[in-house]
Amino acid sequence: MPVLDAIPLSLSSDDVGRALRIRPGGEESVQELLDFARPLLRPRALFRDAVIGRREEAAVEIGGRLFHSRVLVHNLAGTDLVFPFVLTVGGELEKAASAQGDLLRQYYLETIADMALNAAGEGLKKHIRGVFGLKKLGLMDPGSLEDWPLAEQAPLFSLLGDTESRLGVRLTDSLLMVPRKSISGILFPSEESFTSCRLCPRADCQGRRMDYEPGLRRSFGLEDEAP
Ligand code: SF4
Repeated sequence: MPVLDAIPLSLSSDDVGRALRIRPGGEESVQELLDFARPLLRPRALFRDAVIGRREEAAVEIGGRLFHSRVLVHNLAGTDLVFPFVLTVGGELEKAASAQGDLLRQYYLETIADMALNAAGEGLKKHIRGVFGLKKLGLMDPGSLEDWPLAEQAPLFSLLGDTESRLGVRLTDSLLMVPRKSISGILFPSEESFTSCRLCPRADCQGRRMDYEPGLRRSFGLEDEAP
């Protein structure tokens, strides 16, 4: 089971400045924030390939574990191979952020950590696409949709072995990841770039990777919620 270490991150000061809504020449310098944050980021991932077994209407067996999600079943209809993973940027930046007396600076650093996490996710996808000769990968993460609840972290982590010693990420009793700036999920070959964000109406999420599509949400039979 490979660990992908030191995933290259492309975090441009322009993108970060836009995300933080900091104007050039403003009081806070984007470059200074990035210079502070970069040495505290350690983007790395643990992943494996896993074969799909039994398929049911609302459950699918992956690597011998049963996962319960209609959306997952739908998304995996065209493939027999998937890539469960855990990815993190480590805990140093989140600790440094929470130690800041200035709440705005804390928010800036948290946002940079979220952007780094998304950039590392793209790095992991690029690596898997290259190794397995795939054009596109979709992503689903447990807990992001009511259709695939956080409880499914347990079988997902059991597919990946000792994530704490190999990656430095552990699952708490309440199924949250430590360090907090971590993502777990399943990558799968896909014609289109699916992420759960397309079905998630949450309006204030800093980690959003794709726009919300209410029509797509309805097509999966998920409860209609206002974004
Ligand atoms: S919008 Fe945020 S909460 Fe919703 S699926 Fe995407 S990352 Fe998760």
